[in-house]
Amino acid sequence: MKNSKVFTLIISGLLLVLFIITTTSNKPKETPAIIIVKSVKKINTEFGIDTSAVVKQIHSVKRNETLSKILLKYKTPYNKIYQAQILSKNLFDLRKIIYGHKYYSYSSTDNSNSLQYFVYEISPIDYLVINFKDTVSVDLIHKKIVLKKKIVSGVIKNSLYMSLAEQNVDPGLVINLSEIYAWQIDFYRIMEGDKYKVIYEEKYVDDKPVGINKIIGAEFFHRKENYYAINYKTNNKNEYYDEKGNSLQKTFLKAPIKFSRISSRFTYRRFHPVQKRYKAHLGTDYAAPQGTPIHAVGDGIIITAAYSKYNGRYIKVKHNGTYSTQYLHMYKIASGIRPGVKVKQGQIIGYVGHTGLARGNHVCFRFWKNGQQVNPLKQKIPASKPIVKKYLDDFNRLKEKIITELKNIDFVENNNTSTASL
Ligand SMILES: [Zn+2]
Repeated sequence: MKNSKVFTLIISGLLLVLFIITTTSNKPKETPAIIIVKSVKKINTEFGIDTSAVVKQIHSVKRNETLSKILLKYKTPYNKIYQAQILSKNLFDLRKIIYGHKYYSYSSTDNSNSLQYFVYEISPIDYLVINFKDTVSVDLIHKKIVLKKKIVSGVIKNSLYMSLAEQNVDPGLVINLSEIYAWQIDFYRIMEGDKYKVIYEEKYVDDKPVGINKIIGAEFFHRKENYYAINYKTNNKNEYYDEKGNSLQKTFLKAPIKFSRISSRFTYRRFHPVQKRYKAHLGTDYAAPQGTPIHAVGDGIIITAAYSKYNGRYIKVKHNGTYSTQYLHMYKIASGIRPGVKVKQGQIIGYVGHTGLARGNHVCFRFWKNGQQVNPLKQKIPASKPIVKKYLDDFNRLKEKIITELKNIDFVENNNTSTASL
């Protein structure tokens, strides 16, 4: 995602990051404070270019336009373009300039009108500066990012997206929230009357918002339950925990059966041993003797427990709004396993067999993400460890502060657009 890429660039190269705590219009009680977080390099907004002796022009990249094409328009000598390409190799791939992105040209004021500097906007934060003046030089410049603390709350009428859009909040916040709460809240089943409060940081460049930095804390009332999400950083990783210090992210078991071997992997093309033809195999087969217990890889609800000609006896478990898993060719479905039943991670849901279209005894394990079958072995599923003991006191202090802050936020009906302080 663009935002996370941008974020990486911020940590790697940065300048002066001001952390300004602002208040929203509905919360004027807070005292603004300024904390200097990091100071590495200071750059002026004109990319370190003395603008007094040049003519500046701003354009945007046209469709199918290459950097060479643009530079040749300014009569830049070929050898200088070539040098710029060599010098920028480790900074930015010049072949990757994007249609619609801005660039700035600075030409000399004399009759030659020669190009002195060229600046390409990689993102609203990152700029490639090429100096053509004397010896060609290339530099990557990062604009100053200001993080502003924001508060938003709402009562949902139709969707979270709509509720936030009505308040002019960056849609990236919806994505952030749905990732944080992937295990607690099914965002496809949000109900009218569900409520939320979110404290978050937004990135600003030249006083314009450029994306969500992170959610600091959130409270979500969904189906009469209250879910907290507290951001806490350990080992340089931003994680989210509930009020007890449990991770909101729950991991899956690596495989549905213990001590198994993979007999056939996920592929879009394999020779089917029974049908004798090439077809996609969107599952991972684990071979095991008949009767070997099959475990649910994560907490969830059974949505299918049935028999079909191809799948044999099979089960589908829905883990959350994003993930579901399927287990095929069972010899037997475990007793009590039927649609609507809740299962725990590791719970036995059935036994290995070869019912349906299967040759040997195995379980065909299928992993669904957002309605698509994907290879579970290629998914980055985060670990779900609770807060480490040595950080618990520190976490609890931070948690108290965030929860108090959340409690002080009032719910504002969505038609009141003054909630967001954008
Ligand atoms: Zn299979």
